[in-house]
Parts: sequence; structure tokens; C-alpha cells
Amino acid sequence: MSTYIITGAAGFIGSNLCHELSNQGHTLWAIDNLLTGNRDNLADLLDSSRFHFIQADICDPKTFNALPKNVDGIFHLASPASPVQYANYPMETLMVNSQGTKHVLVFAEETDVKRVVFTSTSEVYGDPLEHPQKETYWGNVNSFGPRSCYDEAKRFAEALCYTFIHKHGIDVKIARLFNTYGPNMERNDGRVISNFIVQSLAKIPITIHGDGQQTRSFCFVTDTVNALIAIMETTSTELIFNIGNPNEQSIRDIALLVQKMTNTTSTIVHKPAVEDDPRRRKPDITRARHELSWQPTITIAKGLEKTILYFTQKFYTR
Ligand code: UDP
Repeated sequence: MSTYIITGAAGFIGSNLCHELSNQGHTLWAIDNLLTGNRDNLADLLDSSRFHFIQADICDPKTFNALPKNVDGIFHLASPASPVQYANYPMETLMVNSQGTKHVLVFAEETDVKRVVFTSTSEVYGDPLEHPQKETYWGNVNSFGPRSCYDEAKRFAEALCYTFIHKHGIDVKIARLFNTYGPNMERNDGRVISNFIVQSLAKIPITIHGDGQQTRSFCFVTDTVNALIAIMETTSTELIFNIGNPNEQSIRDIALLVQKMTNTTSTIVHKPAVEDDPRRRKPDITRARHELSWQPTITIAKGLEKTILYFTQKFYTR
């Protein structure tokens, strides 16, 4: 069994990762400043003797004094991650990915952590001119716009990882996560799938931004978590992995599917498109398939069913 640190542990993906690692029997040191994370997501782990929760900010170097010095790996997920969240907290997003990431990497170097897995994002590809996106694509990113606090902060963090790998000799791997959904998404985090489900269950209009022809490729969170663990454990020499589900769909099709699956009376309404909204996004996961023997297994229908059930049970039944 291993000991891991997870930053951003109370967030959507972090909390799902904590549950899976805990089920596997590992000892976990979970950090979150609860800016966008939610302690409730970890409620059933808090009493475990193998689970240690620290409410703290990784931008503060003192946070690291509370951590053990002999961990096997760090999963570094801390950051606001939905467009609504990082629009609300642009400075925090910039700082956690730059200063916070530097602190994580310095700690890893000083304490000889075996590996750091950093969660980057498909947003490093911006509004992509290459489709589907391979890890080798450099991206088409606006450095001065509403998404740049996230996109450019993640790109800066990747550059930090590169520097620590090549100048400091530490083992860092990067997961570029594409759109992910599932239980523990916040109902108000503003991402499209949680919005559509919450709107459908509340029987209020389903809001499509723009014409709805823009596409995304949605990966269910348990598939994403399995990929992160595979990256922590792999012997592959590759450094960057696209992690997502290549099943590309239009936002309008997602709206229609959620509308049907929730059997709602909600109608679909169109709102203005958001600025700098990528038109298409689809991962090329050839590398993850070959190097990690990983691929998504949960279909959109199955994943939506589980996510709708989560929101129904959490917010619409007593
Ligand atoms: N979107 C939408 N309605 C919503 C929220 C989002 O039509 O209520 C659109 C958004 O404009 C984008 C896509 O859905 O084209 C995915 O948005 P999300 O915020 O989930 O993630 P992104 O991939 O943009 O980071």
C-alpha cells in the first residue's frame, strides 16, 4: 500500500479520486482550501484512520509543514476548474497553478517524492486548429481574455513541470483532462452537464449558449480517476497524456439527451454564446491507450444516468 498526497481533494475529481484510492487501501493526505471544493464530498472518509484532511492553501508554503516527508506520490489537482469558477476567482486560479504548483514541486524535490501527477487541461489547446487534439499540438490560446486566467495558468504550470523534470530531475507526469462529469459536481459550478441536469430536475429552461453546434467529448469521472491512478503507476517514459472520452457530441445533443432522460417539462432556450468558447474539442487518446492500457468504459447514457441519480438523490429527495 502507498501513501499519497492529493491537492484539491474536496473538489469534484479530487474527491472521486480520494474515494477510489481509499477503497484500494492507500493512506491519504488530502489538502483543500475549500474555495471551490466541498467538505461534504469527503464526509464518509473523514473518520478513517488512513485519511487525513487538511484545510489549507498550497499557495502558503507553511501548508507543507503539516505533511509527511515520505509519501510515494502527489496527485496535484488544486485549482478552480469550471469556467464559472475561474471567472469568479481569476487571481486564485492564476496563483494556485503558478505559486501553488511551484510549492508542490519544491516539496516533491525536497522530500524525494517518487512521482507527481499534475492535472492540466484540454484548455491548453484553446480553440483548437487541430482536430482531434494530440499531445503534440501546441494549441491556439488567447492570452488576454476571459479564459486566459485558467488556460495560461495551466500552460505556465506545465512549463514549471518541464523545468522541474529537466533541471531538478524529479518525476512529474501531466494529465490533460478533457471535459469530465459525474457525482460530486457542484450544482452551481456552471458546467454544461450539471447545469442541464439541475435545470431539468428543477423544471426550468435548459440554457444552450450559442447555437449548440459546438462540440465537447465527455468523460465519466470514474474513467478519469482510473486514468490518473494509471499515470501514477505507469512505467511509460511519456510525460503527457490526454485523458478524456473521444465520443464527441454537440451541446444541443447533450441538452436533448438530458431532457429525455430526466423526463422533464423544461424547454430549451438559447442564450448568447460565451466569449472565446472553443468550437470543437475531442481528445486523441492513442497514447493513453497504448502506454497506460487505459480507455474510457462508461457510455454517455450510463454516465448521465448515474449523474442524474446523484443530483436527484442529493437535492430532490428527502
Ligand atoms: N454551455 C451551455 N449551457 C450552459 C453551460 C455551458 O450551452 O448552461 C456550453 C458552453 O458555452 C460550452 C459547452 O457548453 O460551449 C461546455 O461548457 P462547460 O462550461 O461545461 O466547459 P468548457 O468545455 O467550456 O470548459
